Order: sequence, then structure tokens, then C-alpha cells
Amino acid sequence: MNNSDKKLNGTVIVTYRCNARCTMCNRYKAPSKPEEELSIDTIKKLPKMYFTNITGGEPFIRTDIADIVRELYKISDRIVISTNGFFTDRIVALAKEFPQVGIRISIEGLEATNNEIRGLENGYQRGYQTLKTLREMGMKDVGFGMTVQDRNAPDLVPLYDISDEMGMEFATASLHNSFYFVEAKNIIKDRPMVAENFEKLINKLLKSKSPKKWFRAYFNHGLINYIYGQPRLLPCDMSFDTFFIDPYGDVMPCNGTKDKEVMGNLNTQTWDELWNSPEAEKVRNKVRHCDRQCWMIGSVSPAMHKYIWKPAWWVFKHKLKSLFTDKPYSMYENKICCDYRDGKVTKEQLDKCSTCDMCSVVNDGLSEMSKAQLKERSGEEIVDADIAGQLETKM
Ligand code: SF4
Ligand code: SF4
Repeated sequence: MNNSDKKLNGTVIVTYRCNARCTMCNRYKAPSKPEEELSIDTIKKLPKMYFTNITGGEPFIRTDIADIVRELYKISDRIVISTNGFFTDRIVALAKEFPQVGIRISIEGLEATNNEIRGLENGYQRGYQTLKTLREMGMKDVGFGMTVQDRNAPDLVPLYDISDEMGMEFATASLHNSFYFVEAKNIIKDRPMVAENFEKLINKLLKSKSPKKWFRAYFNHGLINYIYGQPRLLPCDMSFDTFFIDPYGDVMPCNGTKDKEVMGNLNTQTWDELWNSPEAEKVRNKVRHCDRQCWMIGSVSPAMHKYIWKPAWWVFKHKLKSLFTDKPYSMYENKICCDYRDGKVTKEQLDKCSTCDMCSVVNDGLSEMSKAQLKERSGEEIVDADIAGQLETKM
């Protein structure tokens, strides 16, 4: 098999438009212009993928999302769409056409917490009802996605319990800073409190009968390590067999960098040209020396498959422990948690290990054309008018 036959893991950012107002992400202030967004012709040029994540912004803002999914199914074994769950009708219609598609709806906690963080009117009820409808339609690959932070950490286990009762997937993340989130100031303030809630979740996952959940437990263990600013538990191999493509056709290693890193552009190049270009090599070299230590599922899931022995050994040890105790996992297995508790490191020292930079200029990865439209109106005004127009056309 030559390199171009190797299936990759890809994330397709179909738009930077978003109708939510999340506290940990400013993407809604920096939308892309619809006419510049990835076309079907460009999507056709993507390589074969064993896994494709479709994301945004809010991907369902694109009225041609079904055409995108149809095209991507020709080259992808599995597709999961990340959404804020607002456009219930569009999500349900898509699920009818593609019952095998995965849907992850971001819900940031129980009702009050979610609505406060996400800034969407009735966001929780809409998200929850959409998930329920999808489940009732018989869709198997549906679930919650939660970005854990100080404000919602106490809701982590209660929300997991709800998703578990509904027989759904439960994906977690924590705060990151990057051009993609148009944010540089995200930081966990009360690390022990957040870690304790992860610890409770990890113990629940370990006690389940599902091997998938045991490996999720490992992922959450990695999140504790991440919020304490420690080196990743597994190497980051983004841009080697994994890529992101943004709404402008720019192919990037990941969504965690401070500035947008570009390997090439799929609107103007072929896949093989850009993937084997000197620019792509330069980006790979940067990845090799990257010190941002992200722990997001997009970069961790491929690493967990590639270096499977490491999570597998961790799972084996903790499953063995679970035969003898109700609490097989302790956050204090992480040396840094002990060091912080024992006063050997200070909060200031841990803050310095994070990517939070209060003085930094925030990058947004927008094209010049998309930036220009922000001179006259705010991102929120542009997207609100855009959605109002779409809904009017429908009526
Ligand atoms: S996190 Fe997602 S839903 Fe929230 S503002 Fe950013 S892109 Fe929109
Ligand atoms: S650690 Fe990996 S995912 Fe994070 S910015 Fe660096 S290369 Fe990207």
C-alpha cells in the first residue's frame, strides 16, 4: 500500500458561522463568509478516511449539509457530526437519510448551567429533545459532548448518568486555547475540584461492563493530567495520519495551535500535492516540537489506537483493582496532583504550564474577506441575519 492509499482521520470544519454564544469559545464573533466555505468540489478532493468528524462553527447552519455528508460517505468509513443541537429539524432530517451517521450534541451541564455557558435560548431542552428523538428513531451512534470547566464540573457525573440512562455516548473535553476557538484566556481555576469530578466519572466508567467506557476512563485520566499542565500521556502525531481542513480549504494539522498552521490548500492543489509538499513537512516538524500538550479527542483517539498498549495496560491495572475496591482510580495517581496538594507547586506555577495567555493577541484564522465583513457588523449580527434569512426562505 503506498502512502496515498492509507486511510486517514480527518476533521472537516464546514463553516465558522455559529449561532451559540459559548463562554469558552469566541468563534461566533468570527464567522466565515458563506460564499467562501468549502464547496462540494473541494470535498470531492479529500482522501479516503477511516473516520471523519464534521464540525464548525455550527455545521447545521449550512443548508447543504446533507450534500456534504453524502459526498463524504463516498470516501469515509465512519462519520460523526459535532453540533450544538439547535437546528432540530435539520438534524432529524439528516438522520433519516443517514441512519448510520454519528451525532454528538454539546451539552455543557444540567439545564441552568448549559444555558448559561452556551448562551442559546432553551439550549438544553432543544439539545436533549433532539437526542431523545434521534434515539427514538433507532439511531445508535448518538451522544452528549461536554467541555468541562469550573462552572460545570459539578454537573459532570449527573449529566453522564442521564446519558447512560438514555444509552448514549458521553464525550468529554476541557478548556483549550487556540485560533480555532478564537480564545487565549481559557483556564481552569480550581483544578482539584474539577479533577475530583473527573475522578468520580472515571470510577463510574471503570465499573461499567463496556470496554469502550474503560478506555474513555483513560481519556478522562488524561484530562486531569492536562488541566494540571503536564506533558501529554501519549505522543501527538497530528498531520502524519490525521488532518483538519478549514472552511477555506486550508489543510492544517489540528485545531490546537495558537496561529493557523497551513500544510496546503485543497481549493487550489490536489490532495497528493499538498500532503507531500515542503509546507506540509514544515508543519510536521512543528508538530514534532509542539509544546501545547492538548488533550482533545481529535488528537488523542488516533494516538490511543496507535499506542494501544499504554491505555490497555492502564485499563488492565484499574479493572483488576476494581475487583477489590469501589474506587479503583484516584486522581492522586498523578504525581502533580499530590505535589499541588502538598504545596510543592503553586497555582501560579501550574497556570504558567497552561496555554492561557492573558496578554496574547487572539488569532481567528479568518480570510481577509471574512475579516472585512466584520468592519461593518459584528459576527453575531451577521449570523443572526443569515439564519433569519434561511428561515424566511423556508417559509
Ligand atoms: S464552542 Fe461550538 S457552539 Fe460554542 S461558540 Fe464555539 S463553535 Fe459555537
Ligand atoms: S499538541 Fe498536537 S494537537 Fe495540540 S497544538 Fe500541538 S500538534 Fe496540535
